[in-house]
Order: sequence, then C-alpha cells, then structure tokens
Amino acid sequence: MPTTPRKARLLLKTNKAKIKTHNPFTIQLTTATGETKQPIELGTDPGFKFIGFSATTKKEELISGVVKIRQNIKKLMDPRRGFRKARRNRKWHRKSRFNNRKRKAGWLPPSTQHKVQTHKNLIKKLQSILPITNIYIETNKFDTQKMENPDIKGVEYQHGTLQGYEVKEYLLEKFERKCVYCKKSNTPLEVEHVIPRSRGGSDRISNLTISCHDCNQKKGSQTAEEFGYPDIQKQTKRSLKAATQMNIIVKRLLEDPDLNTIPIPAYETKFRRKQLNLEKSHVNDAFVIAGGTTQTRSQPYQIKQTRRNNRKLQQNRKRYGISIRKQRYPISANDLIEYRVRGESKFRLFRVKSTQGLRGLIVRDNKFDQNRFPNVSKVKFICSGKGLCFIG
Ligand SMILES: [Zn+2]
Repeated sequence: MPTTPRKARLLLKTNKAKIKTHNPFTIQLTTATGETKQPIELGTDPGFKFIGFSATTKKEELISGVVKIRQNIKKLMDPRRGFRKARRNRKWHRKSRFNNRKRKAGWLPPSTQHKVQTHKNLIKKLQSILPITNIYIETNKFDTQKMENPDIKGVEYQHGTLQGYEVKEYLLEKFERKCVYCKKSNTPLEVEHVIPRSRGGSDRISNLTISCHDCNQKKGSQTAEEFGYPDIQKQTKRSLKAATQMNIIVKRLLEDPDLNTIPIPAYETKFRRKQLNLEKSHVNDAFVIAGGTTQTRSQPYQIKQTRRNNRKLQQNRKRYGISIRKQRYPISANDLIEYRVRGESKFRLFRVKSTQGLRGLIVRDNKFDQNRFPNVSKVKFICSGKGLCFIG
C-alpha cells in the first residue's frame, strides 16, 4: 500500500526499503511485515486517444492519470508495406503462394491492436505496484448499431431517454464539441436537424448535427445547404470511425479472462459525475468509474506510450541500399538520468527530452525552467522511459 513521501524518505534513509522502480516511483520494504491491505478499485475510461485511470480506496485516490496512446502506427506501417510490395514485385518469376493469406482468428488492424495492448499494459503495470481488487471499465460509449437504426431512434430520441443522451454524446464527439455553423465551443449546444423536421427531415443520426442556440434559431426551417453550409450535409453522412473502433477495443478488454473487468455503462458515469459536480475529464471519469465520491484526490500522472525501439529505415544512403539502423544509443529520449549540474554539489534526476547524436543529450531542468545539455559520459542512467512512461 502507498505511503507518504516523508515516510518513504525515512524508510529509504534507514535502509528499511529499497527503490523498486522510478517509473512511477515505487519502493519495496526490505523486511517482511504483517499484511494490511485495503480494497482498491481501479476505474479506467478507455478512449481513442487517451485512457484515464484512477485507483481508489474508500479513503483516498491512490494513483490517477491519463495515458496518451500512440497514433502513428498506420503511418509507420504504410511505408513498410510499400517496401515489401516493391520487393515482392521484383520476384515476379516466383510462383504465388496462398498458404499465408489467412488472418489468424482474433486479428485486429495494427492500430486497433496497439490500442488494446496499451490498455492491457496499463492495467498490468498498475497491478504490479498495487494490490488491485476490482477493475471497472467504461462501456457502451456509443451503440452505433442501435443509433443508426431509425425505427427505435425516432421515439426514444424524442422522449429524451438514455438513447437520446447517447445520441447527443455521439454528436458532440463527432463534431468535436463545437457548433458546426459558427464553430463556437464554450456555449450550450443543441441537437439540430440538417433537414428540419417541418420539411420532412428524419431523426436519423445522419440528419443530426450539433449547434449553438443562436445558430439553431437563425437557421429556422432552412436546410443546412440553404443556410449556407453545403459541406455539413456531406459531413453528417460519415459515421464516427472512432466509435466503432472503441466498441471493438472495449469488447476485447471485457472478453480477456486475465483482466476480469467489470463493465460500467457510460450514462451511469456521466450521471454520477454530474451529481458530484466534477468537470468532464478522463481522470474524473475514471475516478467516478472506480466508485469515487468524496475521497481526497491525487495529482494525476501524464503518461506517454513511447516506442521501445527507435530503429529507423534509412533511405537515400549514397551507394547503399535501404537498411534498418540497428545501432542503439546508450541513453534515449524519455529515459531518467542523474547528473550533477556545474556549480551544484548534489546529483539530481532529469528526464531526457531528446538526444543529439551519440554523445549529447537535452534534458529539461524544471527547477530553473531551462534546458541543459549534458554529455552522455557525465550522466548516470537510472531508468528507461520506454513503454508506458510516467511523467510528473
Ligand atoms: Zn453557432
């Protein structure tokens, strides 16, 4: 169970504990003590770009944060596929083989698979430092199938039931919480019909957008095109790709027998968050999902998912073909290092911002709010920042 920074310092000083990891900072007692555990509920708010999490006991929130998921998987896979294709095309004389054309059961596109894996890694990481009792996960963000079905839609949307709430949340996400006409974001937004109902427009999701009250009034019984926004009509036709992908990710996590997660519907979270008067954020959502109410909150971590390997395909090398750089730098970006700034007597911890070739480093000195440029030979490696990197 976590302790206070003061107690941790004393334990380390008297050798009663040792540092287990710096990412996040964890200590381990060196002598066996009696076990006193309190139940810990972990809530996760899975998202397309971010994952919010919060581990909470009855008394306090122990750890919370937001993970930024990598978005560049597809961008990195595309050239690889291109190179392979070009290479295979040169072997035109080779007979085609079809035994390797099947995808394994449970195959997901790499970008989606990566998101599933990041969620799993996060949960495993937290389980390794905290005795977590239950894992709750937010589900049913958007039931796209149900929403796109106009029959059930019409009635329930009008009666403002759960689906009605879901539709509005879906539209807010789809149009980035901005009025589609004037692009204002910090005003109450209304669900709005592209072709008004008075002109025969339906309550289908493809006929709905989000707008501020003023624009809604001004538009009146005009269609979006008549109102001067022909592109809006086209935009509504597209479905929210993120929503579909999210549903796949959450389904995978719920099915995983190792995780044993408990689903919490999204509308419940929103309802409880509003009751507690918390503003919308990934961490607050996760806190509510974990069953948080009036517990003391913790300072949330900003976590970055970083690549484990910085190898890069080297092109345009004079006289040489394309090759993969396999050279590893002793220290790379996001690693934690220790070094002594000139004029200071003690070593201090720094996080590497980036590297400059083999020798140079750029680190951020938060104490003086400036960059420093130590030499690799002068620093001590403390902890790798690869994978899930817990920053501040
Ligand atoms: Zn507006």
